[in-house]
Parts: sequence; C-alpha cells; structure tokens
Amino acid sequence: MSYTCSVCNQIHLGPPWVWGPEAPDAWNAIASDAQRAEGELGSDQCVFPEAGRARCFVLGRLEIPVPGAEESFAWLVWVEVQPNDFLEYERKMESGRTREFATI
Ligand SMILES: [Zn+2]
Repeated sequence: MSYTCSVCNQIHLGPPWVWGPEAPDAWNAIASDAQRAEGELGSDQCVFPEAGRARCFVLGRLEIPVPGAEESFAWLVWVEVQPNDFLEYERKMESGRTREFATI
C-alpha cells in the first residue's frame, strides 16, 4: 500500500497515518468564487464571509490509537467555530499557548 503525500507530494509506503480533507465542506460546496477571493484557506484555518458575517473553521485532530502500532492514526476534521473563538484561537496560536486549544 502506498499513497501520495499532500504535504511533500512524494509517494510514501504504507497506509497514511494522517488523513482528512484539505478544506471544510462549506468552503468547497457553499462558498462562491467571490467569497473564496475575500476569504482565506490555510493549512489549519479557514474563513470566508457569508451574509455579512464571517464563517470560521479550524482543523481539529482526532487521534485514534491503533492496536500494535507505536503511533496513533490522526483523523483531521474541520470544525466551524464562532468568530470570537476563532480570534481567541489565533491569539493563542501566535503566542504559542498551544496546550490551551482544547479549552476553546
Ligand atoms: Zn510526505
């Protein structure tokens, strides 16, 4: 089994240990080209305007233990958050207080 890595574009052997979509469904399916042009899609954050407000998403990581394996399988999921929580997340990200992410 092998897969093409979305981070380095190389082919890695074995099953991927991290898996998930590169953008929230809403970004792909709901946002128009104009909304996407005003918004921003990063590797773990996404924001775009809709009806006068901001729709904000952050990428979460669900770690699933694999029996007999040294590492966990990480399932990446986009979660929509309130704009206030998004700003709080960004503040904590910039100040390196990553351990506090779980509290928002
Ligand atoms: Zn890679």
